Amino acid sequence: MPSASTLQLALPVPLPQLFDYSPPEGHAPQSGDIGRRLRVPFGRRELVGIVTAIGSNSGQQELRPALDFLDAEPLLHGELWQSLQWLAGYLHAPLGEVLATALPTALRQGEPLPDTALYGWYLSDSGEQALAQMRQGRPRQLAEYLAAHPGISESLLDAQQPGWRTAMRTLEKRGQVERRIMAAPTSSTPANRRILNAEQQSAADAICQAEGFQPFLLDGITGSGKTEVYLEAIAACLAREQQALVLVPEIGLTPQMLARFQHRLGVEVHALHSGLSDTERARVWAAAWRGQAQVIVGTRSSVFVPLPKAGLIVVDEEHDSSYKQFDGIRYHARDFALVRAKALNIPVVLGSATPSLETLANARQGRFHRLRLSQRAANANPPAVQVMDIRKRPLQAGLSPEALQAIKDALSAGGQVLVFKNRRGYAPSLLCHDCGWSAHCPRCSTDTHGSAMTVHGHGRRLQCHHCGQHRPSPPACPACGGLALQPQGNGTERIEAYLAEKFADFPVIRIDKGSTQGRNALQKHFDTLGNQPGILVGTQMLAKGHDLPNLTLVVVVGIDEGLYSADFRSPEKLAQLLIQVAGRAGRASKGGQVLLQTHHPEHWLLQTLIGGGYHAFAEGALSEREATGFPPFSYLALLRAEGREADVALAFLQQARKLLEAGLGRPALPFHGASSALGLSGPAPAPHPRRAGYQRAQLLISAAQRKPLHQALRAVIPLLYALPEARKVRWSLDIDPLDLH
Ligand code: ADP
Ligand code: ZN
Ligand code: ZN
Repeated sequence: MPSASTLQLALPVPLPQLFDYSPPEGHAPQSGDIGRRLRVPFGRRELVGIVTAIGSNSGQQELRPALDFLDAEPLLHGELWQSLQWLAGYLHAPLGEVLATALPTALRQGEPLPDTALYGWYLSDSGEQALAQMRQGRPRQLAEYLAAHPGISESLLDAQQPGWRTAMRTLEKRGQVERRIMAAPTSSTPANRRILNAEQQSAADAICQAEGFQPFLLDGITGSGKTEVYLEAIAACLAREQQALVLVPEIGLTPQMLARFQHRLGVEVHALHSGLSDTERARVWAAAWRGQAQVIVGTRSSVFVPLPKAGLIVVDEEHDSSYKQFDGIRYHARDFALVRAKALNIPVVLGSATPSLETLANARQGRFHRLRLSQRAANANPPAVQVMDIRKRPLQAGLSPEALQAIKDALSAGGQVLVFKNRRGYAPSLLCHDCGWSAHCPRCSTDTHGSAMTVHGHGRRLQCHHCGQHRPSPPACPACGGLALQPQGNGTERIEAYLAEKFADFPVIRIDKGSTQGRNALQKHFDTLGNQPGILVGTQMLAKGHDLPNLTLVVVVGIDEGLYSADFRSPEKLAQLLIQVAGRAGRASKGGQVLLQTHHPEHWLLQTLIGGGYHAFAEGALSEREATGFPPFSYLALLRAEGREADVALAFLQQARKLLEAGLGRPALPFHGASSALGLSGPAPAPHPRRAGYQRAQLLISAAQRKPLHQALRAVIPLLYALPEARKVRWSLDIDPLDLH
C-alpha cells in the first residue's frame, strides 16, 4: 500500500465536493489529522478547512500544498464529527458548509481554540516580604487584597477589583505575584430546590432512570413546572459528572431563566446566544469541548456544541419554529438533538405545553416516551377562556366594549393585562378611500400579487415586512391626488396608542420586534412594569419567556387572519400560539381570564381548543394531516430558486424536475400517493412570488416514505450545481420545510 500523501478537505464553499491538497511541508499525513483545521490556498484566497480523510496521490493531478494546521489535535472527532457528517447527508448540503455552520465564527475563521483554564492569582514569596514596604497606591492595595484572598479567580477580580489588570502587571514585573491554573470550583450547594408534586416526581424519576438513548416527550400544560423537572434531571446528570445541554427558543433565554438555573444547580451555567461576542461563543464551545462546561443553555445553534461527557439533552418548547434555521444550512435543532442523543446514547427530553404534531405522532407510535404534567404547579389554576363574538360590535383600535371593560376591571383590581395582536406596526396597510389605491412594496409586488406595506410611526412611515424597505408615507394619494389616505386595521402600535390614552393612569408597554431590540430589552420592559397594574401590548414575543405572577387578563385581539390561511401548518401554529398566550394568565394564585375576540366564534379550531384543549385540537389536526397526506404522514423537500426574472427561476426548477423524473423513469404525479413513489408539484411561483426585487419559484417534492425521497435527492442534488441554469439563480433545498413559501 502506498503511504498516505494527500489530505482531503471540506471547505466552506457552496460546492458539493471535497478537495485534495498535498500536506504542509514536512508533514506526513496520518489518520490523526482527520478533524483538524487546516489553512489552504483556494483560488486567490485562503480558506480554513477540516481534514476529512487522508489518501494517496494518484499522481494524475498536481495538488496545491496546504499551508498550516491550526490545531494540534482534531477539533472535530467522535460523535459530533459523525453526527455532522450525517447531517450533511440528510440535508444534501456540502459538508464544508455544514461544518462552517456548526463551528463558532471565531473557530471557523481560524482563531485558536480559546484557553478556558481557570486562573487564580497569589502573592509570591517576594511579594509577601515586600508587602509591608510597598508605597501606597493601587499596586499595594491589590497586593493587600491578594494577601487576604489568595488564589482569587480572574472573574472575581473583574467583579470586585475593577481595572485590576494594570496594577497586576506592575506587581508581576516585580515578581511579586503569580498566576496559577486552578481546579474547577467546587460547586456551591444547590439551593431553591422545590418539593416536586407527584406528576413532576414521576416524570423526573423516569428521566433519571433512563439508560442509554431514550426520547421523552414532557407534555405539560403551561405553568405545570416543566422547568423543575428539567432541573431535577440535570442535577442528577451533574451528580454523575456528565454534561447537560439545554436548548431554548431565542426569546426564552432570559437573565431570569439563567439565574434560576444557576441558583438551583450550583454550578456555572454557560449561556450561548446571539448576544455574545464571537470570542465569548468560542470560549463556551471550547469549555464544552474540554468537558469543563457542565451545563450549557443555548439557542438553536447550541445543538452543535461538543459533549465529550454527555449525559442529557433537553429541548424546551420543542414546537417552537425558531429551532429551524431559515436560510443557509436549514437544519432543525430539535431533530438534530434527537440524532445526537441517539449517537451519544443518552436520554433526550422534548418539553412543551403544545407539542408539535410530529412529536405527538412519535409519541403515539411509541417512539417517544410520553410524560404528562396535567396540573399547574404552585396552586395556580388554568385560566378561564371565553370566545367573544365581535360581529357587529363597535370596535376601538380593534377592541370591543366588553374587552375594554374587562381591562378596566382587571386594572382596578390591581392586576396586569396582556393585549395580544400578532401584527406589529400601526396598521397593516394604507388605503385611499377616494380611489382605492393602496401602498404596495415596489420590490416585493408583481402585476398580479400586491405586497402591502405596513404603516408605522403613527402613519408617518411605510415599511415592507418582507424586504425591510421603508419610506415616508405619501402626503396625498399617488394615484388620484386625494387626501383620503387611511391606515387600515390595527397593529400593536395603534392599540398601544389607543390604550395609553384611554388608561392614562397606567403604564402601557409595547413589546414587539420594533420596540424590543437588543439582548436585554425584553427584560427591561418587564422591569419597567414590575408588579404594578398596567398593560402589555405585543406580538408573539409575549407568548413566552417571562413569569408574570400578577397577570390576570389576556385579551387576544385579532386571530381571524390565521383561521383561514392556506398553509398546511397554519392551524397548528395558531393553536400553539393561542394556548401559549392564554397560558400567560393566572400563573400565580390569582385567577386568570382570557378573552378571545373573533368574527368566527363557530370556527372548528376555536371550538375544539375551548372544548377539549390543545390535545383535542391536535388529534383532529393529525387526522386531517393523515387524510391529506401531509407531514408527519409524509416527507417533504422544497427546492427554491430566485432570480431577476421569473423565467430563469422556473427554468432551473424545470431542469431539476426533469432530472428527478429521469431517475423515476416516468412523469411524476403532483403529490405522492400512498405508495412510496415521489410526487412533484411545480415548478410554480412561490406564494410570495417576489422579494426585494427577486422573482421566486419553487418545486415541492413529496413522498410517503423518507427513503425514496432521500434516494432521489441524493442522485439529483449534486447534478444541480453543474446545470447552466444554476448560474443565473440562487437556489436552495429545504428538507422538512416548516413553511411552503
Ligand atoms: P412551565 O415551564 O411548565 O410553564 P415552570 O417550570 O416555569 O412551568 O413553573 C411555573 C411556576 O410554578 C414557576 O413559578 C415555578 O417556580 C412554580 N413551580 C414549579 N414546580 C413547583 C413545585 N413543585 N412547587 C411549587 N412551585 C412550583
Ligand atoms: Zn386615491
Ligand atoms: Zn418589500
